[in-house]
Amino acid sequence: SPNPALSTQEVVDLTRRLNYGTWRYQRDWNPLHIADAEGCYIIDGNGKRYLDLSAQLMCVNLGHKNPVVVESIAEQARRLPYIAPGHTTEVRAQLSRMLLDVMPEGLTKFFFATSGTEANEAAFKIARLSTGKSKIISRYRSYHGATMASMGATGDPRRWPAEPSVKGQGFLFAPEVNCYKCPIKHTYPQCGIACADYLEHMIENESDVAAVIVEPVVGTNGVLVPPAEYLPKLLEICRRHNVLLIADEVMSGWGRTGSWFAVDNWGVKPDILVTAKGITSAYVPLGVCATTAKVAAHFDDHLFAHGHTYEAHPITLYPAIATIQEMQRLDLVNRARSMGEYLGPKLRALKDRHPSIGEVRGLGLFWAVELVKDHVSKAPLNTRQEKMDGKPLVVDRVAADMMKRGVSVVAWISHFVIAPPLIVEKADLDFAVEVLDASLSIADEAVAG
Ligand code: PLP
Repeated sequence: SPNPALSTQEVVDLTRRLNYGTWRYQRDWNPLHIADAEGCYIIDGNGKRYLDLSAQLMCVNLGHKNPVVVESIAEQARRLPYIAPGHTTEVRAQLSRMLLDVMPEGLTKFFFATSGTEANEAAFKIARLSTGKSKIISRYRSYHGATMASMGATGDPRRWPAEPSVKGQGFLFAPEVNCYKCPIKHTYPQCGIACADYLEHMIENESDVAAVIVEPVVGTNGVLVPPAEYLPKLLEICRRHNVLLIADEVMSGWGRTGSWFAVDNWGVKPDILVTAKGITSAYVPLGVCATTAKVAAHFDDHLFAHGHTYEAHPITLYPAIATIQEMQRLDLVNRARSMGEYLGPKLRALKDRHPSIGEVRGLGLFWAVELVKDHVSKAPLNTRQEKMDGKPLVVDRVAADMMKRGVSVVAWISHFVIAPPLIVEKADLDFAVEVLDASLSIADEAVAG
C-alpha cells in the first residue's frame, strides 16, 4: 500500500506551497498536520491529542474511525466501487428505503450528490423547474455552499467576493432570525414573529418566488435557534403563496439538535430537504436532496435536467447505511439531547464569569458562544469586514489558546461553534468547558482594553 513517510514539517511545507488554504489569506496559513484520530479526539504529527469540540466542520457525528463505518467503505470498495448513476445498485435501493424512515414525513424521492453545496444546487434547480418560477429567498447570516448558486444563496460575507458572478442569479435575502440581536429591532415574543411577516412581504412584492431556503437552526453563522413559532409560521406562509420551503440541514441534520433533523423539533415538513455531512459522519462525501412526491411528480413528464458522474456513488452510499445503523444502535439522537442538557447549563454559566460573552445558545449538541464588545450595543468583538480583510480576530486567538490546551474548536468572526461528536462523554465536556473558561480570559482582556 502507498506509504508516503513524510516528516510533519515536510507535510506542512508541501501543503503550504502546493495547496490553497480555504476562506483565508494564504500568507500566514500554517495548517496543523493531523496524523490520526479516534473517537472524539484528533492526534497531530507529534502525537498530541486534541478534543474535537466541533467534530471538525460539525460533521463527524459518530466520532472518528467508527469501525463499522470504516469497514463498510472497504467492503463496498471490494464489492463494487463505481457504477454510472443511470444504473442502480442494491445499496442505493437500501439507503433510499432507510431514508424514508428517518427523514421528516412526506420526503419520498432522493437525489444523491457528493456535498452539501451540490445537493443545494439540485434543490434550487428542482424548485425552479418544478414551479416554473425563478427567485429564491434566503436569509442573511446563512451559508449554503461554495459553488455558484449556493454561493449566491449564501447570506454571510463569504458571498461578497463572488458578488460580481452571482449577481442577478435570482437570490434575495430576508432578515435572519436572531432574538438576541434582532435585525429588524423587534423583541420576542411581542414581535409576533415579525421576521416571518417581513419574508411574506417580500414574497408578496416579488413576483416569481419559487422557494424559500432556510437553515432550520443556522449553523456556522452562530447556531441561531428560531423561536418555536417561526418555522411553522414560515411553512404556512409558503403554502399560502404556493412557494416551496427548502430546509438546508447539511449541518443541523443527523441528530445534531437532538432530533434526526432540526425541523423535527417543530414538526415542520418541508417540500425539499438538503443534507450532507453527518449522513456518513463525513467519512465519505455524500449529499442528498430529498423532495416530496408532489415536487417529484413534475418530472414524470418533464426532463429532470440534472446529474453528476459521482451521483449515487456506491462508495458513498454503503457508509451512509452503516452510519444510520450505528446511530440507531448507539441511540445517538437521544444521547445528543441528553448530553445537550448537560452541556447547555455549563456553557450558560460561563456567561456570568466572562464579560466578553454576549449570549450562549443552542440545543442538542449544537451550541454557540457569542462574544460582544459590550452588553448594550451587543456589537460583535470583531466584524465581518475584519474577517474578510484577513485581520487578526479575537476568536482566533482564543481558539489558538484552546488548541494549546488540547481542545480544537471552530471560531467564526465573533463566536465559537460547539458541536462535538454525538458520542462525547461528560468528562470530555467538562474538560472542554474548563479550557474554554481559561482561554476566554483573552477575550475578556480584549473587551476591557
Ligand atoms: N449548507 C450548510 C448549512 C452548511 O453548513 C454547509 C457547509 O458547511 C453547506 C451547505 C455546504 O456543504 P459542503 O461544504 O459539503 O458543500
